Amino acid sequence: AGMAAPRLNLDGEVIKPLKICMIGAGGFIGSHLCEKLMFETDHSVLAVDIYSDKINHLLQPGQKWSDRIEFHKLNIKNDSRLEGLVKVSDLVINLAAICTPADYNTRPLDTIYSNFVDALPVVQYCRENKIRLIHFSTCEVYGKTIGSFLPPGHPLKQDPAFYMLKEDETPCIFGSIDKQRWSYACAKQLIERLVYAEGAENGLEFSIVRPFNWIGPRMDFIPGVDGPQDSVPRVLACFSNNLMKGEPLKLVEGGKSQRTFIYIKDAIDVVQRMIENPSRANGQIFNVGNPYNEVTVRELAELMTDVYCKVSGQKRPEQATIDVTGMEFYGPGYDDSDKRIPDMTIVKKQLEWEPKTSLYDLMESTLTYQHATYAEAVKRSMSKTTVN
Ligand code: NAD
Ligand code: UDP
Repeated sequence: AGMAAPRLNLDGEVIKPLKICMIGAGGFIGSHLCEKLMFETDHSVLAVDIYSDKINHLLQPGQKWSDRIEFHKLNIKNDSRLEGLVKVSDLVINLAAICTPADYNTRPLDTIYSNFVDALPVVQYCRENKIRLIHFSTCEVYGKTIGSFLPPGHPLKQDPAFYMLKEDETPCIFGSIDKQRWSYACAKQLIERLVYAEGAENGLEFSIVRPFNWIGPRMDFIPGVDGPQDSVPRVLACFSNNLMKGEPLKLVEGGKSQRTFIYIKDAIDVVQRMIENPSRANGQIFNVGNPYNEVTVRELAELMTDVYCKVSGQKRPEQATIDVTGMEFYGPGYDDSDKRIPDMTIVKKQLEWEPKTSLYDLMESTLTYQHATYAEAVKRSMSKTTVN
């Protein structure tokens, strides 16, 4: 067989293999991005993380990409090797962060240090060494919608001007300081402003990504199986855990908050486009989400219950959900984003990309994975707790 034709980017240029320093490569998003880069491209990855469990399958020797991925177990808080890894790279992607809401109000110091202080040297090394940076921020920098301050039932709540989140127009609206939920959003906002200012004043080549509830296999952990029993992961893992245990799904404040969910594989496609189209991605802030997949958390719970019963063959419980207060579930200082619909104009125009997967389809493949990976272990851990 002849050589494969070279891959071209959106402007018809040949894509050259890059060396990518990926910080937080062992996490949910990192693991999917590493897979994509190993399976479908010629790029190399210096994978930096404290944990490698989610990418161990890529690190086994003897695979056709084995010479293109290297794991560096290090904590970026206190490891001088980081600068050396940044220096030898063509591109840095920083995913490392504390990013589970249960931590924002209970561990606000760790949250602020992780999302701002620890991210700062990465930005500085990139600026000093003229290395391009793709920094992962969050949709949470928008905070609450303008419409959330209107009285219930007000007609303007239906007007997109009062809820649509636009990168270059929408203000960032957070709660008061005692609502420590916003420690995360605030730290992410400040690091975004710093990255942006490094671009404006010092010519740093950067892109900022604001993920809107990316979900899929390998997200977070199941408490008591592959994570601490008393920790609270993000909603997908919480509800999966409830479903596998056969207990009602807990709806915080009645589950009235709204979210848009995007399948991780759709989202990873556009990250690859950013990597390979620097002239289109540099200097931009990108919302990345699926505006068509909006549900209330209550609707999400109902959908997940239906889909889980279908994939597991389990009978649908009489009472699928139970209401809890934010105080009971997360403790003092919790608050919430009311609604998150990404405006997609910029990402569509710059990177010619749109999400594809419906909420039903992404739930079906994700819950099939959750069931196959965890259901037995959850049952075992439950029988252990009953015996003790
Ligand atoms: P994740 O927790 O699965 O991944 C983060 C990874 O960073 C983990 O593997 C963790 O071990 C690593 N890490 C954290 N601190 C580190 C340190 N000091 N040194 C080395 N490694 C460290 O989370 P994720 O969902 O993959 O999110 C990745 C990024 O995307 C985060 O910055 C997060 O704020 C952002 N984000 C994600 C979503 C989403 O929908 N998944 C939404 C908004 C923002
Ligand atoms: N939530 C819930 N029950 C749970 C876990 C989360 O009702 O068991 C709610 C949470 O209050 C929030 C939404 O689900 O309104 C999404 O939470 P997640 O932790 O996934 O992150 P967020 O989108 O808030 O960043």
